[in-house]
Amino acid sequence: MKKIGIDLGGTGIKSGLFAEDGTLLARNVQRTPAREGRAALFGALYAAIDAFEADDVDLIGISSAGDIDPYAGKVVYATNNLIGWSGADIFGALKKRYPGVRLLADNDAVCALKAELRFHPGCKNVTMLTFGTGVGGASLVEGSIVRGARFDAARWGHVILVPGGTKCNCGRRGCAEAYLSATALLKSGRRRIYPLADCKELFTRYAAGDPNADDVLSLFGERLNVLLTNIRTALAPECIILGGGLMQSEDVVRKLLDDDSDIAFARLGGFAGVYGAITEGIL
Ligand SMILES: [Zn+2]
Repeated sequence: MKKIGIDLGGTGIKSGLFAEDGTLLARNVQRTPAREGRAALFGALYAAIDAFEADDVDLIGISSAGDIDPYAGKVVYATNNLIGWSGADIFGALKKRYPGVRLLADNDAVCALKAELRFHPGCKNVTMLTFGTGVGGASLVEGSIVRGARFDAARWGHVILVPGGTKCNCGRRGCAEAYLSATALLKSGRRRIYPLADCKELFTRYAAGDPNADDVLSLFGERLNVLLTNIRTALAPECIILGGGLMQSEDVVRKLLDDDSDIAFARLGGFAGVYGAITEGIL
């Protein structure tokens, strides 16, 4: 029997078909219809699942941005990165379309953390941060994910870094996500460098000594250091794992950090959420 893992983010839907033993057999990436509402989001999930044309699937796991109730398989809350997703009943919809298939659903940072834990055996206190369209956060404390009353705790992307600062997708101002997401970094890069294709170019320019890229990334680094210090103060994790597209430039990011002794980079890269989506056991 096979398994399908899907990672629903604000920009892309990543999907993987896995063998029984967890070997990745095939993978896809498609665009998220992030502004078209709930029916379009479910339609895109179905398309991602059906694209594998696998008839012997016994497990489908969904990793999703937002506050996800992993027991009920429901979206408690999602920001404007996924319009219409708040309140969606993932298990209810998938049960109807794929009867008899076992289902898993959890927050994307939680899924990424679960997947990356295989590289940190024995660690019980770990925080995962994902830097993509938004900034996702999940914390494992003494072996359990910190979830909160509405599955809304350890949302490190929405702790305030700058009071009264830039408007965030959650409606508040000055959240970490408004400064540290790939979207935010690209925007601030483009204020200094134009044209600028993507964040990768910004990192390349920084490495080559471009003073504008240096300014932009130094400020990014200062804010990232504040976030990491706050996490260390709150939870004292053994390890903080940085993942998501932005963290593929490990050499540059390490240079920006005051202290990188407890920092690890996601080994599964941008696909950590897909692996985590099919990782069984709610932590
Ligand atoms: Zn926010």
